[in-house]
Amino acid sequence: MTTINKKLLQQAQPHLPLGVADTYRYWGEEETIFVKSMQGGFITDSDDRQYVDFRLAYGPIILGYRDNRVDQEVIKCITERGTISGFNSDLEAEVVRLIKGLCPNIEKVRFANSGTEAVIGAVRTARGFTGRNKVVVVEGGFHGLYDEMMWKSDVDNWNTEQQSAPEIIPFGAGIPENSREHIEIVPLNDFDALDEVFARAGDDIAAILIEPVMGNCGSISSTQKYMQKLHDVCSDNGSLLIMDEVKTGFRVAKGGVQELYGIKADLSTYAKAIGNGYPVAAFGGRADVMDMIKFGADGVTHGGTYTANMIGLSAAKATLEVLSETDALATVNKVGASIKEVLARVFARFDIEHKFAGPDSMFGVHFGEEIPQNYRDWKKTDSKLYTAFAHNLIENGVMLEPDSREPWFICEAHNTVDLEWLEVAATQSMQKALED
Ligand code: PMP
Repeated sequence: MTTINKKLLQQAQPHLPLGVADTYRYWGEEETIFVKSMQGGFITDSDDRQYVDFRLAYGPIILGYRDNRVDQEVIKCITERGTISGFNSDLEAEVVRLIKGLCPNIEKVRFANSGTEAVIGAVRTARGFTGRNKVVVVEGGFHGLYDEMMWKSDVDNWNTEQQSAPEIIPFGAGIPENSREHIEIVPLNDFDALDEVFARAGDDIAAILIEPVMGNCGSISSTQKYMQKLHDVCSDNGSLLIMDEVKTGFRVAKGGVQELYGIKADLSTYAKAIGNGYPVAAFGGRADVMDMIKFGADGVTHGGTYTANMIGLSAAKATLEVLSETDALATVNKVGASIKEVLARVFARFDIEHKFAGPDSMFGVHFGEEIPQNYRDWKKTDSKLYTAFAHNLIENGVMLEPDSREPWFICEAHNTVDLEWLEVAATQSMQKALED
């Protein structure tokens, strides 16, 4: 029987490459999903199958889909005021005031429309401030789809017996070789690799750019000592520490990972949870660094037609107000912890060694004896079993990315999830994964 999902894919294929708007949304001819509607912690696909959604659009949904508190604010703004004018509005400083209330590390902010754009802005500002070129990034980190950040460690094809380090490869075609020129890639939590890079290239290192909790690598996290080391190396060397909080910001704690570690970045990037699903992002940090954004040959250029559009900013205002004034994040954490308990019971039932990584609001699940300390360690986990388990969960009405490099995302509305039902679904899914 042809499903409506399949029909929609076939109808789209003459018009969009692969029939989808984002390459990662193509899951195969039979498996690609077209969503009809979303509500709370659930999505319904075109074949009217409902899923509890732990993928949450890769993280933006922090309160729940179609949260009325946010949607009403946006509707009011666009019907009573408008969307963009090419001028300024009072919303900008108001949203910054809310950001600063939650993130004491932030002094000044500029807005963007996506995480990628926020990273581009932060990196350019860091280069402008330091007058240097190089950016140190971490294996397994992800910072958006722009050429410079589209180089990765090929851990998938890494032969651990024959190669000491995975090869660095571009994400695909169209990425010029020279876009890699100023990027240095080091393994997470490896002090020697960091020392080596700074000894070799320190005087041209503008910044270290890191997701302290790798939201694109199973929430594998920096140790406290490593974060301190990054902070100290940067200040000793006149480089800037940029924390990419696109996934962690306004999610793992009110003040993001910087609250968890108690370490301040010089610049931070935010997107996703800042707007509960509306397209809005930001970067900011030290006032002296951000003030490099100014006119003139020695100033950093930043802006854009849709920058600080009022759709995104009204959503950010409402979302940040809810996060500031309610215990939404406490609920997110509590629900995340309960879901981990359910999963732990299921894995124990089948004697599966497992470890969770990262905070309860976006945790990674790894089948192995130890929590991976970096991307290379992830290769030692049984990611095939995870993928089989995840595919069965999807069959059973639990949506998640079938790749253990993508964490489980929790939103406030997940507090309605029936945990007993989830435990049955997870038990059946694991049973089947082990049988196949
Ligand atoms: N940085 C991080 C840490 C991300 O997780 C992402 C997206 N997953 C980005 C940057 C890019 O964000 P966007 O997709 O909004 O451009």
